[in-house]
Amino acid sequence: MKKLPRFTFGMGDRFGHQGEAQLQAVLDGRAQGLELAPVWNKSKREHTLIGTQPQSLRDEADAAVQALGYDGAYFVDADHINFETVDDFLACSDFFTLDVAEELGKPPASAETAADYEAALLKLGTLALDGLSEPLVYDAATASELVNCYGGAVEAAKKLFDKISAQKDAGSFAVEVSMDETDNPQGPKELLGILCMLAVEGVPAQTIAPKFSGRFNKGVDYVGDLVQFRAEFEADLIVLRYAVEALGLPDSLKLSVHSGSDKFSLYPIIRELVAKHAAGLHIKTAGTTWLEEVIGLAEAGGAALDFVKALYAEALDHVDELTAPYATVLDINPAELPSAEQSAQWTSEQFVRMVAHEQDEPLFNSSLRQFFHVAFKLAAQTGDEYLDLLKEHAEVVNRRVYDNLYNKHILKIFPR
Ligand SMILES: [Zn+2]
Repeated sequence: MKKLPRFTFGMGDRFGHQGEAQLQAVLDGRAQGLELAPVWNKSKREHTLIGTQPQSLRDEADAAVQALGYDGAYFVDADHINFETVDDFLACSDFFTLDVAEELGKPPASAETAADYEAALLKLGTLALDGLSEPLVYDAATASELVNCYGGAVEAAKKLFDKISAQKDAGSFAVEVSMDETDNPQGPKELLGILCMLAVEGVPAQTIAPKFSGRFNKGVDYVGDLVQFRAEFEADLIVLRYAVEALGLPDSLKLSVHSGSDKFSLYPIIRELVAKHAAGLHIKTAGTTWLEEVIGLAEAGGAALDFVKALYAEALDHVDELTAPYATVLDINPAELPSAEQSAQWTSEQFVRMVAHEQDEPLFNSSLRQFFHVAFKLAAQTGDEYLDLLKEHAEVVNRRVYDNLYNKHILKIFPR
C-alpha cells in the first residue's frame, strides 16, 4: 500500500496541457501549510472520448513534477476502472479507483462469501458511536440486506484488487473503492457495512467514495438539502474513524468526494467538519480544467472565440450523444441553451459572464456551462486546431486553470 497523505486533490485534465498550472495550485496550497498531494485522474471513458492512452497522463504528471521541481508525493489515478478496463492502466498508475457501482444490488456469487460477510456484520452489533444521534444496529435482517445490496460490489472490489496486486508491488499503489455513480445514496450505516465487508476481504482501501444524497452535477453547485448533507457527512466521518480503529482498515482511510467540481455551497461544511474531526479528505474535481480552457479561449477573442462559437454550434447538433455518458450528473434545461444564431453574436465578455461559475452573475447560465462541460469530445475531434489554440493562448488559459483550482477549490475545501 502506498500511503496517502491527509489531503489529496484529484484533478482532471482532458487534453493534458495544464499539468504545470494544476500542480502550481497544489504547491501553493502546500506553501499555505496544507498536507496536500496532487492526484491526476482520467477515466477510461475520458481517454476513449478523447482518444488518448493512460500512459499519457503519467507522462504529463511526471513532466509537470520535473518542470516545477516538486519532490513530494503525487499520484496518477486509474479513475473508475473495473475488471475489464484496468489492464491498460496497470503499468502507469499508482492509484486505482475501483468502480464497483455496476455490482450494486447484487449478493456475492458464493454462499460461503455471503455467510462470511453476514457473520462480520452481525459482530458489529449495536453501535452507539460518539457524535451519532442514534445507534447503528446490525441485526440479522440488516446484515442480510447489506450483503444482498453491497456484497457483490465488495466481492468485485476484492477480485479487482487481486488482479492489480498480481501485477504490482503491494507497496506501490493506493486503492479507492467507489460506489458513487448510482442513484441510491449510501448512508453511514451502509458505509460502515461496506467497510466491514472490505475489511473481511483485506482490501486496503484508503479512500471510499459513497453516493451522498443530493445531486453532484458536473461543474455546477450542489443541488440538495444542506442540513441533511452536513449530518450525513459528519456521520460518515465518525463511521470511518470507527472502521480504522475496530476493523483494521488503513489509518489513512478517508472519504473521497467525487464532487463534479464547483460544489461551493458544500465546501464550508466539508472544511469545518474535516477540521472538527481531524479527518483526511480526497476530493475529485472532474474536468473543469477543460471549461477553463474554453472560457480562456473565448476571453482571448478573435479566432479563439470563433473556435468556441463553432464548437458550440456543432455541439447543438449532438446534444443527446454528448450528454448520454453523463446522464446521472447533468441537469440541462434545453430551453436555456442559446440557439446557434444567438451564439454567433457572442462577445468575449458575454461568454465569460454566461459560462464562468460566478454565482452572483445575472447572466450565468448553468445549463450552458454543463453542456460545455461535456462537449470536450468535439474539441478532441479538431485535433491540432484546438491544441494549437491552447498553446497560443497559454497565458490566459493557465491563469484561469490555476485560479480555479487554487482560489475556488483548494483554499475553500481544506482546513488549514
Ligand atoms: Zn466519480
